[in-house]
Amino acid sequence: MAQTELQRRMDEWTVALRRAGVKVTQQRLIIFREAASRGDHPDVEAVFRAVRQELPTVSLDTVYRTLHLFVDLGLVSVLGLSGERTHFDANTRPHHHFVCRECGQAYDFYDPGFDVLDLPAGADDLGQVQSTHVEFRGVCSPCAAGQGKANKRG
Ligand SMILES: [Zn+2]
Ligand SMILES: [Zn+2]
Repeated sequence: MAQTELQRRMDEWTVALRRAGVKVTQQRLIIFREAASRGDHPDVEAVFRAVRQELPTVSLDTVYRTLHLFVDLGLVSVLGLSGERTHFDANTRPHHHFVCRECGQAYDFYDPGFDVLDLPAGADDLGQVQSTHVEFRGVCSPCAAGQGKANKRG
């Protein structure tokens, strides 16, 4: 990810915490920076494993609760990609996903045309639509080339 994009996310994070009256701590900063700097929609364990280098005493539960705090603040969204595991997405710009059914990886892509779609008839009856998210499913290029995560794992 470009440094400028990471910086934008960090700035947005600082502003959102201040606005909500949530203290900016070193621990929260490290957890958010980890989530925000990766484009792979990590689950809580992946974030936990990464931040333990810098936060040796942090618990999985703390990382989990911290990520959900960021979800409540609108800084991170939740994806339910592979069933039981919650994946976190720190990309707050309107975007869409290509999800690989082999490795479960979700790739971000942007398309202003998909951000605002004409609602199908009857959608209003279900509730008020606030945002649109398009998800493509298929096999990602690394997996198609036999180099995806699923293959590497053996
Ligand atoms: Zn894949
Ligand atoms: Zn995403």
